[in-house]
Amino acid sequence: MQINKDNLPIFDSHAHFDDKAFEGDLSAVVNEMKANGVVGVINNAVNYTSAKKCIDLANRYDIFYSAVGVHPEDLYDGEDFNPQKLIPFIDHPKTLAIGEIGLDYHWDTHPAEVQKKWFKDQLDFAAQVNLPVIIHDREAHNDTLEILKKHKPNGVLHCFSGSNEMAKEILKLGMYIGIGGVVTFKNAKKLVEVVKELPLDRLLLETDAPYLSPEPFRGKRCQSDLIYFTAERVAEIKGITTKQVLEASLNNIKTLFNKIK
Ligand SMILES: [Zn+2]
Repeated sequence: MQINKDNLPIFDSHAHFDDKAFEGDLSAVVNEMKANGVVGVINNAVNYTSAKKCIDLANRYDIFYSAVGVHPEDLYDGEDFNPQKLIPFIDHPKTLAIGEIGLDYHWDTHPAEVQKKWFKDQLDFAAQVNLPVIIHDREAHNDTLEILKKHKPNGVLHCFSGSNEMAKEILKLGMYIGIGGVVTFKNAKKLVEVVKELPLDRLLLETDAPYLSPEPFRGKRCQSDLIYFTAERVAEIKGITTKQVLEASLNNIKTLFNKIK
């Protein structure tokens, strides 16, 4: 399928190509994405094993970069965060961030207090190794904001689902806001309001592939070239061109993740 016929450069700030959804045909998917203008993708680890996989993918494919960290749904029961498990990956030239880390109160897999401890420990670790962070916040807006205000990390709140007021607080902290396929959904009223007011220099485009395909592909396996449809919708909301949106996101990604050459 040919999308993005002008071949504008697409950089996906958040995906999971280590997911088993891509096991059978990853090289074909990578080739198709490159043909459709994808120049970079940050694979976000969800646990220590996934971190190693993301690094392997970055070694194998030129467009892949990695973020390493432990996702709130993937915490190790009865254990604290162990920085030694991530240290081997930190100096890799394509490790751009600590992620994805944060809080998830939707899938009640781990108690809030445990999640908060892992989140804070990983924020401290990111500060120590001087890398930005990629934050997951699902139904945990208040606690996420409280912790971010205290730690003041450099980073992005991915797949933003909060209110306009929360977006403003995040911007005050100097952080970026990740916008994905959800903005194309019919029921995305709150997110549309956020995008309307979001300064272009703070917006990062993302997919969260294999999840959250934008319309008209909602419900299908997502891949990074579909960002084109998200960019189109953002452009429509802001009354600018798709090209302007893709370019702004690319510039912001390069500013935030400054190890990208
Ligand atoms: Zn994710």
